[in-house]
Amino acid sequence: MDFLDLKLLVTIIALSVGLAHTEPQDELYSFEWIGYNTNLDDPKYRLLDNVQPLQISVDLDVYLEESRFNGIVQLQVQVSENLTQIVLHQNVVSIDEVSVLDAAERPVSLQIPNPFTIDRYYEIVTINFASEIVPGTYIITINYKGRINENPHDRGLYKGYYYYNNEKRYYATTQFQPYHARKAFPCFDEPQFKCPFTITITRGANLRPSFSNMAIANTTVLPSGRVQERFYPTPVVSSYLVAFHVSDFVSTNSSGTVQKPFQIISREGPTNQHSYAADVGFKITEIMESYFNISYYEMGQGRPMKNDHIALPDFPSGAMENWGMVNYREAYLLYDEQNTNLQNRIFIATIIAHELAHKWFGNLVTCFWWSNLWLNESFASFFEFFSAHEAEPWLELDDIFILDSVQSALSGDASASIQPMNWSSVADNPSISAHFGTSSYAKGASVLRMLEHFVTPVVFRNALRYYLKENSYGIGYPTDMYAAFRRAVSEDPTFATAYPGIDIGTVFDGWVQNAGAPVVEVNVNMTSGLVSLTQRRFQISGTPPNDIWQIPISWTHGDSPNFQNTRPTYVLTQRTGSVQKPVGTSWVVLNIAQSGFYRVNYDNQNWGLIAAQLRSNKDVIHKLSRSQIVNDVLFFIRAGQISIPVAFDVLSFLAKETDYYVWNGALTQLQWIHRRLEHLPAAYDEFTAYLLELIDEAVKQIGYADGANDSVSTIQQRMQILNFACNLGHQGCIDDSLAKWNSFRTQNTPVQISSRRYVYCVGLRNGNASDYQFLFQKYNTSENTADMVVMLRTLACSKDQASIEHYLYQTMHSDKIRVHDKNNAFSYALQGNSENLQTVLNFLFNNYAEIRETYGGAARLSNCISALSGFLTDFEDIVKFQSWLYENQIAIGESFSTGVSVVNTAVNNLRWGNNVAAEIFSELRSRSSATTATTSLFVVMLALAAKFVF
Ligand SMILES: [Zn+2]
Repeated sequence: MDFLDLKLLVTIIALSVGLAHTEPQDELYSFEWIGYNTNLDDPKYRLLDNVQPLQISVDLDVYLEESRFNGIVQLQVQVSENLTQIVLHQNVVSIDEVSVLDAAERPVSLQIPNPFTIDRYYEIVTINFASEIVPGTYIITINYKGRINENPHDRGLYKGYYYYNNEKRYYATTQFQPYHARKAFPCFDEPQFKCPFTITITRGANLRPSFSNMAIANTTVLPSGRVQERFYPTPVVSSYLVAFHVSDFVSTNSSGTVQKPFQIISREGPTNQHSYAADVGFKITEIMESYFNISYYEMGQGRPMKNDHIALPDFPSGAMENWGMVNYREAYLLYDEQNTNLQNRIFIATIIAHELAHKWFGNLVTCFWWSNLWLNESFASFFEFFSAHEAEPWLELDDIFILDSVQSALSGDASASIQPMNWSSVADNPSISAHFGTSSYAKGASVLRMLEHFVTPVVFRNALRYYLKENSYGIGYPTDMYAAFRRAVSEDPTFATAYPGIDIGTVFDGWVQNAGAPVVEVNVNMTSGLVSLTQRRFQISGTPPNDIWQIPISWTHGDSPNFQNTRPTYVLTQRTGSVQKPVGTSWVVLNIAQSGFYRVNYDNQNWGLIAAQLRSNKDVIHKLSRSQIVNDVLFFIRAGQISIPVAFDVLSFLAKETDYYVWNGALTQLQWIHRRLEHLPAAYDEFTAYLLELIDEAVKQIGYADGANDSVSTIQQRMQILNFACNLGHQGCIDDSLAKWNSFRTQNTPVQISSRRYVYCVGLRNGNASDYQFLFQKYNTSENTADMVVMLRTLACSKDQASIEHYLYQTMHSDKIRVHDKNNAFSYALQGNSENLQTVLNFLFNNYAEIRETYGGAARLSNCISALSGFLTDFEDIVKFQSWLYENQIAIGESFSTGVSVVNTAVNNLRWGNNVAAEIFSELRSRSSATTATTSLFVVMLALAAKFVF
């Protein structure tokens, strides 16, 4: 599925449900997103299966400058019953002519005067026969006119631009998933309809050869001088995976061979940024060929397969897995050693892995309908990490998976309104779609990871091989997947011995059908050693339903800690169950290295023992379990499911913790709590002091400069902890950053790539308009888009109001800020400084119609409004926003309802802060070495809180 928008949207939705993944991991898990809208499940949008495509030829005459094309599509179809009509999808500009031939190539008469009718609302063309046709083969030919969309968010065939030597050049490319192929040609635009496609493109002679799924079979120069390229027929494929690209882009083939080509394609200019993607992508292709035991290059059903990867300056998604021609946002494919930071390098490796995995999961075997999208996306999201890990072990992607997939998905699943992996209801607003995205991607991958630990890696691999082999070139259903797992498990006698009575298909299906994720509550009887377990769905608020999961449980205890064996030793199949530990006082920890997809809450005594262990020798407990512990505890604070003193007792070990994974589990949630206290100055200051003290050791230990031998997690820890520290006002961090910024400005000494985000930010935050202009100039002349995004983000750290106004104005008017970055820029302005809020609000109030227009549509305006929810931390600001919202209700249009939920979220956030502030304040005061707590301050704060209780 196509990547991104999800990045932005999930972040926004996460913010609005109070699951803020703002910093720094807001870009990690959401790079792919489909623009599902609304009523695709409405039967009127769907085709019947009594007509099946056998093969489709698409012939397009493309006029790039004029943003239009003429098309002829020829569909050979199999009709299985008597019919008077054939219905196809279409969303083209106009259909000029339709003709139908029978198997003997005799014309079939159509109705006069209405040989075909068009329904623009349902995006349908109906071919009306003069009399009933009988079952058999027919050829439908449609001549039509189409449009190259100028707004990439409109998808279909759309237009983008780039500059080369100050000359503006255009290109056109496709994004068809999930229902945009019909904008390029009338067709059967649902994943279940699969057939070979033959694409022919005619273009201007000033361009270079076009690209499509397959290689060019022949080229003809027409009498007009225009050039026609016909591509080899594709293997059997769904319409959403068809693709083509018309431009003067250039390609390199540095890692592939003649038999196994591997091309990186980009605009003219940054071809020296191709080699990393070429090397890692080729390696990953070979890794997956061997894992699935199905060769990528032999998937072409007799035709040669190519393996092209195109970097696009403008792309509404993050990447899209078109067979043979994968599209990427440029920042996710092009690597520049001097300018691409580690996090972006990880994106490149993992996104390529994700898209390549789709060649097996999605392209070769396709989900029947979008409700089963997880059959494509969960697997792509799983191999995104694990095949990239095999290619690049030094990136630690197997461990990073726990943060980016498991903890992200658990965050999403904490919401009461989250969708299950298998999605059956009609989505009628974008937020449901966003939830659906998280469930299919990160949650699906996390469930697969749990099952792999459960059935063992070899059995897991065998199950996937069975599924792929048995359903190749066809469609897959969840039942096919479960059958493949049952078969593979049945071949392993150890499974039945270890887990008597457990049916793997039933286990799997429970995780697919249930929305949300469970928390296992653990009660340890230290006298008897009985460890009692109770499961329920974890929700941050509200009363959860009574769903039960079959939870494979791994666990260990303090008498004999073992964090190496992640294979579950018990399956909790009912609401309650138990395991037995040795008699005596020692801690129990469940879910070793967070290999399962569930949270764990312990009784107070056990929490106390864990806290003591973490303080005395934290390394006895695996870093990923420590990461889960802090992440769970912070969510339990938010849900009111742990006592505040117990929670802070557990968290106290962080003062000596330096590990990236553990801090990553904590920082976003600590920041969320911090922000909820912003309107209560006494509590806020106390919490700020607490955080500064908590991170101080980690900052000291990590230092301010990357060393030559630093591991990936060391560099990532430095990026995240210093970014957090500088934002919090840590003096050492600020001093160091200012020194680096000044030497960048005055002596042009480049800042280390991984430090740029916080160094630039501190430089601008403490500088003036000239600092902003300096960086803005760098932004405008950069040739590396990943680095440009870092600059775009940090430009928003300026506190100079005129600069922020300039910045926001640029988002509407500068074509250097790509359409896919505009919403991000709006969010960056909010994140940059809390002082920016008023400027951003005024910008929104004064320009919302133009934002809607220039950012790419109403959904983009809604995204901007959504982004506000985490930042309206003051009652007066909420009232101000709400007044604007209601005064302009009509003009704000469909974004109004987004505004209403922003108000609700912001109010709930205030209320949450009010409810816990006094207890957190008093807990921190009692823990603080400086015991200067005064009753009066406490009372003042309570009074302040009372003011805001609604
Ligand atoms: Zn995908």
